[in-house]
Amino acid sequence: TDSSKKILITGGAGFIGSHVARLFVTKYPDYKVYNLDALTYAGNLENVSDLEGSSNYKFIKGDIKDAEFLNNLFKEYRFDAVIHLAAESHVDRSITNPNDFIETNVLGTANLLNAFKEIHAGFFDGKLFYHVSTDEVYGSLGKTGLFKETTPYDPQSPYASSKAASDHIVRAYGNTYGLPFVISNCSNNYGANQFPEKLIPLFINNIKQSKPLPVYGDGNYTRDWLYVEDHAIAIDEIFHKGKTLETYNIGGFNEWTNLNLIKLLCKLMDQKLGRPNGSSEQLITYVKDRAGHDRRYAIDAGKLNRELGWKPSVTFEEGLERTVDWYLTNDEWLEHVTSGAYQDYYKKMYH
Ligand code: NAD
Repeated sequence: TDSSKKILITGGAGFIGSHVARLFVTKYPDYKVYNLDALTYAGNLENVSDLEGSSNYKFIKGDIKDAEFLNNLFKEYRFDAVIHLAAESHVDRSITNPNDFIETNVLGTANLLNAFKEIHAGFFDGKLFYHVSTDEVYGSLGKTGLFKETTPYDPQSPYASSKAASDHIVRAYGNTYGLPFVISNCSNNYGANQFPEKLIPLFINNIKQSKPLPVYGDGNYTRDWLYVEDHAIAIDEIFHKGKTLETYNIGGFNEWTNLNLIKLLCKLMDQKLGRPNGSSEQLITYVKDRAGHDRRYAIDAGKLNRELGWKPSVTFEEGLERTVDWYLTNDEWLEHVTSGAYQDYYKKMYH
């Protein structure tokens, strides 16, 4: 591979994107890494403040919904590869504002593909469009079975359907225009920098403040969980060693019902905060179920393991402890994202 590649990472100020950007900037000093992010409520430049000043890194504020802006940007920088993570990502928000998801996730992805196709004009040698996607495209499972790369798509929420649509569009560009792509579909991530609307950071924060822990329905929803840094490592492996035009499932081999996960988290938080064992569990309150809630997701990451040798590097207990420690020592981050103060940080840094 060309060691001076120009790589565009979209959504690099968000949760997963910030870990991917850090890994690529630090591990590949010869690459030029461009981080394109609109800095929506979920994007926070504090997530990548340590990369500012690296000679192989540049942040660009911009919206993937804006096709003309993207076309000009791609003409200016002529990116060799795109790792596309920018998205509206929260299922509950997709239920209240589905169009935001369709505009960013579907049209935004198409805009990026068009801009990439345009600059390379059919000469795609050594180029790659990497689409980062979710296992939610596969729908819901019964008590047994696993999602494989060949599982038919059956998305159930506006979020999942917008990601499914963008996966299909990426594949269609591969088939129609010969655009080299790779797609990975990953299970639920957890770790540092995750916006506190998502289950684990929300519950860490609520336990800390002794606020109720809202559990949907009966709490028996099952999800697979992966430590975010292991997702970033998988993306690195697939980017460099994956086969183009292929899909890889990424998962933690780590299924938990929401209720058991919350109990484990409560136990860990009791220890960390020096509270009597069992006190956090008393905060659990059952709330009305999410509309169209998928019962169980579980992913088979066997292909990635067999073909590229990837497996999670930390156990769930280790990953969860690191995550709790990070949230407990980064009060300021939490305060800034919840108050919107990171927008001021952007103004300070860039204006
Ligand atoms: P996130 O919400 O934390 O970050 C998304 C980032 O995209 C933010 O920085 C936001 O500012 C940016 N963004 C949003 N709309 C934009 C637009 N129109 N133009 C430019 N930038 C925009 O999300 P995340 O959890 O880090 O997820 C990243 C990607 O990984 C998404 O594509 C998501 O579907 C996928 N994914 C997430 C998970 C998970 O568990 N979080 C699991 C599998 C796949």
